[in-house]
Amino acid sequence: KRKTGKHAVPVTNIQFADIGGQERAKNELKEALDFLILKDKIKQYGIRPLKGVLLTGPPGTGKTLMAKAAANYTNSAFVAASGAQFVEMYVGVGAQRIREIFKEAKTLAEKNGQESAIVFIDEIDVIGGKREGQQQREYDQTLNQLLTEMDGISTSENPRILVIAATNRKDMLDSALLRPGRFDRHIVVDLPDLKAREQVLTIHTANKPLASDVSLERVAQETFGFSGAQLESVANEAAIYAMRESKDKIEAKHFSYAVDKVMMGEKVDREANE
Ligand code: ATP
Repeated sequence: KRKTGKHAVPVTNIQFADIGGQERAKNELKEALDFLILKDKIKQYGIRPLKGVLLTGPPGTGKTLMAKAAANYTNSAFVAASGAQFVEMYVGVGAQRIREIFKEAKTLAEKNGQESAIVFIDEIDVIGGKREGQQQREYDQTLNQLLTEMDGISTSENPRILVIAATNRKDMLDSALLRPGRFDRHIVVDLPDLKAREQVLTIHTANKPLASDVSLERVAQETFGFSGAQLESVANEAAIYAMRESKDKIEAKHFSYAVDKVMMGEKVDREANE
């Protein structure tokens, strides 16, 4: 049996400022988080507590970063799990694991003297997807346990818990998850536009020596459709090319190679999967 400690993620130092672009998503999330912080105000207005936020969008766009930044912003304990960990579990084990995750969030917050905890569940569609056939029963128990935990979240009790879930297949989710009082706030974390791509590149080259011929704006123009994760990869690959050529600085051509490499890498991966 796996120890609950497995789910713990050390307190992260990711801030919203470390996430390029996504201004709208960041603002929507911050507003939702203010509900967690302003507990007395919420009570005063009789507002129903927010229990779940769903982040939707393509892979590698910063959903995990957003959840970590949310924990910092609210000074919450942070516990993460991925739906992928629940694949092919025996009946009952998934539900038990869900119980452990929530318990651990509480314990961690208490230990750190924090008033709130954020439970992050990546790839929620694996647990909460609509499906048929033999796996239905085991997933049902896991999903039911998650719903039970969420329904049991109390706002008058510390630590207050907020569940943030991420998926790139919102259409697949069981409607029980989307009901009011569960994941009723949906925030789209989309692919970065031109300006956002430049911001992401700026973030990921901040610690790198750039030659004067490098224009991150130009790199941003050449990377239409790239995710934040791919842009991070471009910055890293460019540095590797420069190092390989024993150059003191990363030049424009190294970025060109890197863009090609990341683009080709995706193509190779796609063909392998077909
Ligand atoms: P997945 O759906 O595949 O889990 P995700 O949306 O959760 O992806 P993250 O894990 O947050 O994506 O991002 C992966 C990495 O890509 C980050 O650690 C970071 O280096 C980079 N990255 C992604 N988006 C951004 C962004 N908006 N700003 C800066 N870096 C980003």
